[in-house]
Amino acid sequence: MTTPLSEIELLDRLVGFDTVSSRSNLELIDFVRSYLDGLGVASTLLPDATGQKANLLATIGPADVPGYVLSGHTDVVPVEGQQWSRDPFRMWENDGRLYGRGTTDMKGFVACMLARVPAMLAAPLATPIHLALSYDEEVGCLGAYGLVDHMTKSLPEQLAVFVGEPTDMGVIGSHKGSTGLLTTIAGKACHSSRPDLGVNAIFHAVDLIGALRGYAEELAAAPEAQSPFELPYTSVSVGVIQGGTARNAIPGDVRFQWDIRATKAGMVEKLVERFRAFCDDTVLPVMKAGFPDSTITTEYAYDVPPLVPSEGSLAETLAKRFAKTNQVGAVNYGSEAGIFQRAGMPTIICGPGRDSEAHITDEWIAVEQLHRCTAFIDDLIGHARKT
Ligand SMILES: [Zn+2]
Repeated sequence: MTTPLSEIELLDRLVGFDTVSSRSNLELIDFVRSYLDGLGVASTLLPDATGQKANLLATIGPADVPGYVLSGHTDVVPVEGQQWSRDPFRMWENDGRLYGRGTTDMKGFVACMLARVPAMLAAPLATPIHLALSYDEEVGCLGAYGLVDHMTKSLPEQLAVFVGEPTDMGVIGSHKGSTGLLTTIAGKACHSSRPDLGVNAIFHAVDLIGALRGYAEELAAAPEAQSPFELPYTSVSVGVIQGGTARNAIPGDVRFQWDIRATKAGMVEKLVERFRAFCDDTVLPVMKAGFPDSTITTEYAYDVPPLVPSEGSLAETLAKRFAKTNQVGAVNYGSEAGIFQRAGMPTIICGPGRDSEAHITDEWIAVEQLHRCTAFIDDLIGHARKT
């Protein structure tokens, strides 16, 4: 038997695991697993290919009927380059605030859901509540894909998903997608005195980047009416370009990293298809005329789908009721919510802490936010209880 812990005690334990995305999250997952086990709740581990990270899924209540999902990520952003006033991985309290890496983003929410497990068990629940913990959210929501995939294959369709990213306990119904791409151009290197013997990959990269800039300008010129976003259109940008070896050499290779922040589902596919067609039909034939083995490839580094507003969805209706608000907002960051939604589950973001307090030096969360979060979860338990 485990002695149930409060959300503050749990947060203290969770912050103690250094789960920066580059590291393993297994110690934290083991802790959660044995904590749940001690309460009589079984959980499923879904490890990644390396075995160094794992998602965890636990179900309270009958798993064979549609239910609700509380979703949180276990990884945190790095502390390098930040001057913390204390050890970021030992929580401290001061004046109603709890400090430590991940307190806001988003171990606070994870602590709240775990703290209410005894209440879920006591209810008891007619409609199940699933606790879904993922890895590698901060580096492209990598864990959530496997978790969502597992859920869609092994569980009935879920009624609503609540993702507990920090929203000051407000209800967020939309965010843009975040897609990372890498384009690699291989031409032919040679001495710059004989450019006719090579294929200048930088010259061709300029054409490709010019096309992306054109798409970006086109999208900006046609802002979407009634968009929930501050920037009311899909944006495209190039962030990194690498290539060439010397001023007097024709560069054979160039690669550049680019980014799409899509407002709608399907936008990314459309843009990438258009770009690939431009590469294949317009630029590559010119390169191949100079060197037949020339290539242009574009790969996805990550692809977090947008969370599209779905007014009147059960997730939205319940979240508004439990959070006691009529407002539904939008945020700039991407999250796992888009992945759940794309898999057909009505999804909303609502969690303790504020966005402005995440990722910062001396990250903190107000104790009051945790209390509001547990009250939200208690309302969900009340709604899911056997009557
Ligand atoms: Zn987060």
